[in-house]
Amino acid sequence: MTMTQTRREFLSTMTTTTITAAALAGFPSTKRAEADDDEPPVVEGIIDAHSHIWTRDIAAYPLAKGQTLDDLDPPSFTTQELLDTVQPLGVKRVVLIQHRPFHGIDNSYVTDTIAQHPGIFSGVGCIDAAAPHPEQEMDRLHKLGVRGFRIRPGEGGADRWADSKGMCTMWRHASETGLAICPLVNPEYLPEVDAMCGQYPDTAVVVDHFGRVGVDGTIRESDVANLARLARHKHTHIKVSAFYALGKKQPPHTELIPMIRRLYDAFGPQRLMWASDSPYQLIGGNTYADSLALIRDRIDFLTPSDKQWMLRKTAARVYFGEADPA
Ligand SMILES: [Zn+2]
Repeated sequence: MTMTQTRREFLSTMTTTTITAAALAGFPSTKRAEADDDEPPVVEGIIDAHSHIWTRDIAAYPLAKGQTLDDLDPPSFTTQELLDTVQPLGVKRVVLIQHRPFHGIDNSYVTDTIAQHPGIFSGVGCIDAAAPHPEQEMDRLHKLGVRGFRIRPGEGGADRWADSKGMCTMWRHASETGLAICPLVNPEYLPEVDAMCGQYPDTAVVVDHFGRVGVDGTIRESDVANLARLARHKHTHIKVSAFYALGKKQPPHTELIPMIRRLYDAFGPQRLMWASDSPYQLIGGNTYADSLALIRDRIDFLTPSDKQWMLRKTAARVYFGEADPA
């Protein structure tokens, strides 16, 4: 298998990742899954709040402009490959995040998957925030099971989201319709997230991957403080995810625990949600089992109730419309 560096999420900071055939064929480690099966699960019905899917069936699901099959890395991560990865580890539901680099703003692989597996998937879509009426596309996708919208700095035609008419429309419309805004940002953009949360205090917000604090290998106190500061906006949540990309970027990921403690103290477990960010969590020596194990097994201050929230209930509320998850 050849190795290619693609326009993946961490393009600006990741170095080329080696993907071996064994890593692809072997995840999750069968040994790990069997060992886990021997223990009673602490949390039933775990939800992974963030995975991507993509397919080589580009007749049905064309790639984004400029992308070819050679760019897909790993070569595929279909709905079935995702299910085969997560189900042995007790994960029952998954929030699918539109993969804009590969599939652009055509969200149909995500929405078709939601339709084909009732009750299993929710979705976070990508739309063109600079289009004349972004709220119309939000409504259309909402009817197809999408519950949130991913945004990145610069989208909407302005450096600052506050200066983009379309972006402001999205934040306002999300609050009116109970949808979530899901920023994917680096730490230096957290003040802009804070400003938007202040401007749209009723909008549910889920910040991806700890705001990528630690993406350059260093978990800075000032960045953690900016992230924790978002807790003053009561509808803001943090996705505890993408461990492969943060800190040491290798299992057991325990260097992330002090940051998780800070966020736990600031937000409480009801506004934190675990996610894997597959398939990226499955390569370069990282595994799905190690991602789950950090929250389920490796943090001593988390109570069983805390884990219920972080591994299921928070995502159930935000992405599956369960007002009061059992
Ligand atoms: Zn992702």
